[in-house]
Amino acid sequence: MKNDYYKILKVDRNASSEEIKKAYRKKALKYHPDRNPGDNKAEEKFKEAAEAYEVLSDPEKRDIYNRFGHEGLRGTGFQGFSGFDDIFSSFGDIFEDVFGFRTGRTRSRTAARQGADLRYDLSISFMDAVFGTTPEIEIEKFERCEQCGGTGATPGTEPIVCPTCRGMGQVTKSSGFFTVSSTCPQCGSAGRIIENPCKNCKGTGKATKVKSMQLKIPPGVETGSRLRLRGEGEEGEFGGPKGDLYVFIYVEPHEFFERDGNDILCRIPLSMTLAALGGNIEVPTLNGNEKIKIPKGTQHGKIFRLKGKGVPHLRGYGRGDQLVQTLIEIPTNLSKKEETLLKELAKLRDEI
Ligand SMILES: [Zn+2]
Ligand SMILES: [Zn+2]
Repeated sequence: MKNDYYKILKVDRNASSEEIKKAYRKKALKYHPDRNPGDNKAEEKFKEAAEAYEVLSDPEKRDIYNRFGHEGLRGTGFQGFSGFDDIFSSFGDIFEDVFGFRTGRTRSRTAARQGADLRYDLSISFMDAVFGTTPEIEIEKFERCEQCGGTGATPGTEPIVCPTCRGMGQVTKSSGFFTVSSTCPQCGSAGRIIENPCKNCKGTGKATKVKSMQLKIPPGVETGSRLRLRGEGEEGEFGGPKGDLYVFIYVEPHEFFERDGNDILCRIPLSMTLAALGGNIEVPTLNGNEKIKIPKGTQHGKIFRLKGKGVPHLRGYGRGDQLVQTLIEIPTNLSKKEETLLKELAKLRDEI
């Protein structure tokens, strides 16, 4: 059972928004987790107050709550306490107001950040996909500039701390009761200024580099398979880890074979007489020719399965099968003699 929002903030049902804000400030100051480290009860109280304030400070939500209570808010998709990150963004002004500074929970500008992931599209032949391959690829990526070692400053010089924001990246102005923070106009939030930018990277600390590398494509990949190479993406920032490289595989079609997962499909033409009389034929497989026994009276479209002659499983052992489908060919441009023989056959079988 949820407590009444007005009771939580200890305000009257027709309290003004100013009164509600004041009441919330009082609660927030008292129960804020930064002031009560490790105190779960205080944290609960704080969350409760934050949720009450979120509703009562919003005229639309407050109106719904007044008329339909907690149930009514749930109907609008309201989920209650929205977590600290949201709280700090939506109540940013109140916290500056309460504490006189932006809370330390907002992400520092110079926090370590992982480098960007890269994508490389690789096209390989049908057979390479089946048996694996080790192609050499070239990728272009941003890496730490070698000339300046990533500082962005001409070798021999160093970036200086921005005098306007003293390295904070933000400037704070007080106007009466409120304090307003904004991005530093001099350094644009970096906190540092490069007086002599490195010529190679133009002060960015990074330079594009073409790097060649050898990939190891395992047997059994197919179109849409994706390889992840950890740490082969772009350089991280401020000591953050490198990003990853994703290789997306596209397999070129084969003139004779088709893939269906780990099975190989192919079609072989069969003469009418061979299909009727039976015999042996040779069919190509991934590992050379293979003999197949065609039984008497084989029909058009019949499928023969060659166990274990398909594609190796990408994960695990064994291989798929090869499926050979017959295409019975009807002879055209018959000679006089062939025609006579066929007619004789037809008469024997009462077909004409
Ligand atoms: Zn600055
Ligand atoms: Zn440089």
